[in-house]
Amino acid sequence: KVKPREVNEQAPVLPGVESVIAIASGKGGVGKSTVSSNLAVSLTRLGYRVGLLDADIFGPSIPKMFATEDARPMVQKVEGKDRIVPVEKYGVKLLSIGYFVNPDDALVWRGAMATNALKQLINDALWGELDYLLIDLPPGTSDIHLTLVQTVPLTGAVVVSTPQEVALADARKGISMFTGKQINVPVLGLVENMAWFTPKELSENRYYIFGKDGCKKLAETLNVPLLGQIPIVQGIREGGDEGVPAAMEDSTMTSVAFAKLAEAVV
Ligand code: ADP
Repeated sequence: KVKPREVNEQAPVLPGVESVIAIASGKGGVGKSTVSSNLAVSLTRLGYRVGLLDADIFGPSIPKMFATEDARPMVQKVEGKDRIVPVEKYGVKLLSIGYFVNPDDALVWRGAMATNALKQLINDALWGELDYLLIDLPPGTSDIHLTLVQTVPLTGAVVVSTPQEVALADARKGISMFTGKQINVPVLGLVENMAWFTPKELSENRYYIFGKDGCKKLAETLNVPLLGQIPIVQGIREGGDEGVPAAMEDSTMTSVAFAKLAEAVV
């Protein structure tokens, strides 16, 4: 469960933000951005004020997942300082490096450029009052992760993985990065994504394409909560590509699964 963070009165970073939650994965392609975007939407549907920062500097996918590729955030002067106004879609405040540069250019950035860009997105954004700021991290355990914890006081981290062995090995590394001395951020729990597949015509059958309960078992071993299991659903993939997160649907199996996940996080 999320405990509100303590705001340092002398040097407030994100002063109006109650909780800052990093969404991480060891491996790429496990559905970290998909989970981040659906979780953000589900949290707004529960009545929370939510921001989503796409810190996946080298492969930003939040603009596409919210159909905001053409959005350009406005700059507003506040007390003589230029502040970036997040883009708002489906009630979620969004910022991504994808709104500022052609994603193909960001791919060749050096580490220092990427970390500076991220710092600027965090420090110069006008998030206003938020209950949750979710940060969609790049996969792995890079410099960016270290920069992030040095820039903002994270409330906690959520780690996304598929139940597959190779993904789990990396998820374990991700968890030990957060719990290690250098970073020391509480892990709120694991999300098992692509947990199974059920064909429509065989609604009783579950096919464990990436293995069964891999994250559930890892969560037990490491003594961290399992926040939820999300199946492979064609609509989740389509929602991502079309820029309408599946969590926006009304009481479908998918939107209920993401709503439950949101409840497990808060
Ligand atoms: P990551 O952020 O970890 O790189 P993405 O969120 O971009 O991963 O997901 C990778 C691909 O898998 C995307 O095409 C996405 O639409 C798809 N995907 C993710 N989760 C699911 C799911 N539960 N069901 C179906 N497709 C999914």
